Parts: sequence; C-alpha cells; structure tokens
Amino acid sequence: MTTAILVHLGLGSNLGNRQAFLNQACSKLSAATLQNFRSSEIYESEPLLKMKQPNYFNQVVCGWTELTPLELLKKCQQIETQLGRVRKEHWGSRKIDLDILSYGKDIVDTERIKIPHPEMEKRSFVLLPLLELSPDWVHPKSGKSIQILWENWLKTNNEELPLVLNP
Ligand code: AMP
Repeated sequence: MTTAILVHLGLGSNLGNRQAFLNQACSKLSAATLQNFRSSEIYESEPLLKMKQPNYFNQVVCGWTELTPLELLKKCQQIETQLGRVRKEHWGSRKIDLDILSYGKDIVDTERIKIPHPEMEKRSFVLLPLLELSPDWVHPKSGKSIQILWENWLKTNNEELPLVLNP
C-alpha cells in the first residue's frame, strides 16, 4: 500500500499572462496530481540579481500525492511543457516554472533532483508564501521552522519584499 505524502511546490512566471499561467498550473495540479490542494496568495517579486527581465509572479502550493519524487518532478515538467515553457538558458524568463520545495520530511540528493530545494532559504518569493500557506512547516534538513528561516532572511537581506497581488 502506498501512503500519500504532503508536498510543497514553488510556482513562478514572468512571461505573458503570468496570473493565468499560475492559475492553469494550479488547476492541473489540483485536478490530477495533488489531493487536498491548497495555494498561497500570488506575490509579485523582482527578478533575482536585478536581471533585466519582467517581474515574477510567484506562489507556493501544497497537497498530498502518492507519486515518488521523480514521478512528481516528471509531472511538474509535463505541466511546464503543456503550458508552453521553452527551456532555454538556466536563469531565463519563463512562462511557468514548477519547483519541488519539499516532499514530506524526506531528503533527496541525486543528480536529477534535490529536495528540499537547495535555493529555497535564499528566496523571499518562496519563504514568504510558504510562511503564509504552512506556518508550521519545518525544514527537514536544518530542523528550522519557516518562521525562523524568514526571520533569518530578513536579517541578512535588504531587497524589496515580494508584494501580494491584489491584496
Ligand atoms: P529549472 O530550470 O529551475 O526548471 O530547473 C530544472 C532542473 O532542476 C531539472 O532538470 C531538475 O532535474 C532539476 N531539479 C533538481 N531539484 C529540483 C527540485 N527540487 N524541483 C525541480 N527541479 C529540480
């Protein structure tokens, strides 16, 4: 018997109708991939390293899945492709990006997939929506709560904070 695992995903879009791409990704995830699906507000944030790109719309979502981490990654990439993402340069603009932030309390470290997402602690556009969506979330590697991670980010960064879209 397989048991369902609670997973958190980070969504981002900075090309075209960004809100529509996030909404479509949420519809696909909630229809077939994640049970008891929940989503944060959408946040608008500036591109990393002040790159000359349109602002990003970001969101964190969660739900329960019986897929393995690799199956979930493939599902995420399938949704990215269905929504028209073209893979060009690594840090390039994208219609939609889906990252696996956490997979239960599991730690996965292979060439294909790293969970928890290794960059998440540096990214306000992940931490802030995650804090809103799952304030009890704890980083499985460091054992730090999302509140502590957010406080640490605030202490060590002076970038503009992501803003909730249509508050
Ligand atoms: P990106 O350009 O951000 O979509 O990165 C895609 C690549 O990151 C994929 O080829 C994945 O194999 C790899 N990757 C490693 N860990 C993760 C993760 N936790 N979530 C999504 N992609 C991941």
